[in-house]
Amino acid sequence: MERRNLSAPHSFLRTLALDPASAQELALFAQRLVQTPSLSGQEGAIAHLIAEQLETLGFPNVRLNAQGSVLTTLGTGNGPTLLYDVHMDTVAVSTPDRWTFPPLDGVIEGEVLHGLGAVDAKGALASVIYGARQLLPHQKRLRGTLALAFVVQDEPCEGLAVRYLIEEEGLQPDYVLLGEPTDLQISRGQRGRVMFRVTVEGQAAHGGLPSRGQNAIYAASRLIFAVQLLAADLPHDPFLGPGTIAVTGIESRGPSLNAIPDRCKVYIDRRLTLGETVMAAQAQLESLISREGIPAHVEITTYDDPSYTGLVRVAKEAHPAWALDRGHPLVTTLAETVHAVRGTQPEIRHWPFSTDGVYTMGQANIPTVGFGPGDPMLAHTPHEQVALADLRTAAHVYAGVALALLSDA
Ligand SMILES: [Zn+2]
Repeated sequence: MERRNLSAPHSFLRTLALDPASAQELALFAQRLVQTPSLSGQEGAIAHLIAEQLETLGFPNVRLNAQGSVLTTLGTGNGPTLLYDVHMDTVAVSTPDRWTFPPLDGVIEGEVLHGLGAVDAKGALASVIYGARQLLPHQKRLRGTLALAFVVQDEPCEGLAVRYLIEEEGLQPDYVLLGEPTDLQISRGQRGRVMFRVTVEGQAAHGGLPSRGQNAIYAASRLIFAVQLLAADLPHDPFLGPGTIAVTGIESRGPSLNAIPDRCKVYIDRRLTLGETVMAAQAQLESLISREGIPAHVEITTYDDPSYTGLVRVAKEAHPAWALDRGHPLVTTLAETVHAVRGTQPEIRHWPFSTDGVYTMGQANIPTVGFGPGDPMLAHTPHEQVALADLRTAAHVYAGVALALLSDA
C-alpha cells in the first residue's frame, strides 16, 4: 500500500496540501518573520525565532551552527540528501517613506502579506518550514535525508553560508532547492558576478601646476570610456542573456582639492554569462588597461564582515554563472509537482539576481534549482508583497518535491 502511493504520487501529493488551520499558521509565521528585523550580520533574533518554531512543530535535530545558520534534518538517511536552502537576512530599507506599508509591520490586507522580506525570502522560508512539516508523519517514506538550512549573510555575500555548511560541516547534498522568489515558476540558473576594484595611480602636484603631476582621475576616465566601449562586445548566451559590465563607483585621493589627485579607484560590476569565467573577465580588463597604457592594477574585492555570532569568513566577491539542464530530473520533478499542485505548467526561467546557486551549482557542481512564492521583480523594492495563497501553494510544492525525490519509486 505504501509503495502503491509512491508510484502514483498524485494521489498522495493531494494529502500533502495544507489544511486551513495550517495555512493560517503559515501566514502568521510569515508575518512574524517580516516583523523580526534581520539585516545581514544581525540575524540572531530571527534565527532563534526559526529554531524555536521548528522545535515547536516537532522537527528533529534542530541546531544553530557556529556561523548562526539554523538547520534541521529529517528522513531515514538511507539515500540521497536534498537540501532546501533559504536565507534569513534582508537588505536595509533606504527609503521608508516610499513603502506602501511600513516595512516591518507585516501588514496582511486582502489576503496579501506586505513588508520587507515578504518576497525575498521570508515567504519562501515560512513555506519551506510548513511544507516540510507535512512530511514529519511520513519520514519513513523518505529513503534519504531532507535537510533544511536557513542561512545568514546571503544578501552581501551569496554562497558564503552554504559553503560553510558543505565545506566545514560535512553536509553533502545531492540536490539543492533554493527557496528564493520565482512567482511559483522555476528558476534553473543565473548569471555570475564579480566586483573589480581598479586602482589607478597618478602623481600629485600643485593644482596651479597640473603639468607637473599625473592626474589619476584623467587616467581613470580613459579606463571608464574603454569599459563603456567593451560593454557592447560581451558574449550573449541564449538562456542567460548577455554578460555586462558597468562602472558603479569612483573614489579619488589627493593631498587636497587644490592638488592633482595621485590615486583613483574605479569599481566595476561585471556580470558573467555562461561561457565566461572570473579569470577570463579579469584578464580581459587587465589587457584593456595595458592596451590603453593606464597605470593601474585590478583586484577582486573581498567580503569579510563577521556573522552575528562573530565568525569571519573571508570570501572573494566573484561568483560564476550557472545553469542546470532543462531535462535534469531535479527540474522535471519540480515541474511535474508544480503542475500537479497548480494545474498549470510552470515556466522555466533564470533569475535576474544572484543566489546561493553560485556556490552549490557554480562551484560545488551540485544540481540546483529554485522555486518560491513572490514576484522576483518586487525583491529589494518598497512594494514587497506576497499572496497568502502562494505561500500555501509553495509549501505544498516543497512537500511534494521532497517526497518525489526521496521516496522509492
Ligand atoms: Zn534573496
